[in-house]
Amino acid sequence: MTQKAMSTAFDLFRDVLAFGAKWSGLSAGVRMCSPCGLLVVCYHSVLPEIPTDDTGRFRHAVCVPRFREQMEFLSSRFHVIPPRQCLDAIQRERRLPRGSALITFDDGYKNNIVYAAPELSRMGIPALFAVSTGYVGGRQLLWTQEVFERVMQWGGPAIAVPWSKGEVPVSRCSRNRSALAHRIRRYCKSIGQHELCDYLGRIRGGGGLVVDGGLEELYAFMDWSDVKSLVRRGFDVASHTVSHPILARMEPCQIREELCESKAAIERHTGSTCSCICYPNGESQDVTPRVLELAAEVGYELGFTTSSCANRTDVDPLAIGRIGTSSHQSMPVFEWRASALGAFSRGLECRREMRDSRSGRG
Ligand SMILES: [Zn+2]
Repeated sequence: MTQKAMSTAFDLFRDVLAFGAKWSGLSAGVRMCSPCGLLVVCYHSVLPEIPTDDTGRFRHAVCVPRFREQMEFLSSRFHVIPPRQCLDAIQRERRLPRGSALITFDDGYKNNIVYAAPELSRMGIPALFAVSTGYVGGRQLLWTQEVFERVMQWGGPAIAVPWSKGEVPVSRCSRNRSALAHRIRRYCKSIGQHELCDYLGRIRGGGGLVVDGGLEELYAFMDWSDVKSLVRRGFDVASHTVSHPILARMEPCQIREELCESKAAIERHTGSTCSCICYPNGESQDVTPRVLELAAEVGYELGFTTSSCANRTDVDPLAIGRIGTSSHQSMPVFEWRASALGAFSRGLECRREMRDSRSGRG
């Protein structure tokens, strides 16, 4: 069986289990007696609708009706708390609050303030918005999305690849092209800053990118007045670094700069203390002990990864795991992932992601 077929079979098996667990009451039952502490959910874009023929661009986006459903579920089954309350509990009891949930948004997209914040305000749900300060108010695409779009929009018959000095043919079929774009982007996340800059230089010669319509709504960032308005409306703002690098691939002085500068910029613009960080990409290999040490040193108190293992109550407050959301995720799957049973299946997914990222090395 090929790796792709195995992944599809795994997803299908998990979906069947998730539906079964929901309708039998197992997800709810396990959630009630779950040993997990805090559940943290990670969102990216929230949009009115997700194109049905999407080839991967909208993978991490959630449509407004589904987002509303997820918020209703979380607010009825968990204590949805702001990061300050989480921090207080850790400082007072030295453990994560049990049966609580925290909502986070990564990257700082304008669509968060247009579509997600009004829903949250209406339902009285607190949330944490993590911004990459170097992109706030800018027109540039996040570098990971730029790499993806450059492959998708490449006009020539072949494109440079980051794993060699050579080129590979670019398929006209959007599905094959999207597979190549995902593979190149994944590889770019595994290399050092110099190699990455070198590769970006090689593909930026390919001309301008067309970012309009739905893509503009997907990719546009907030400006500082948007960030300030989030704080005015009672939400919290976290650092997502300055330039969204994979911190573990940087020298300690560069990591420190990314952590300090973004914290200072947020504090300067909002007038509030920035004590939380959501690490870019945030998988276990991206958030090393050195990164955690530096985050503590520069004054962060809560840190969020994307390692989706369950947060036991005694977890390191600077390495709290989160569950991700995706455009095609059904409500039973979401509820499954929010339960302890989901934590088990997430452990298997972590292993699969690590294997995929190794095989993405060309
Ligand atoms: Zn990010």
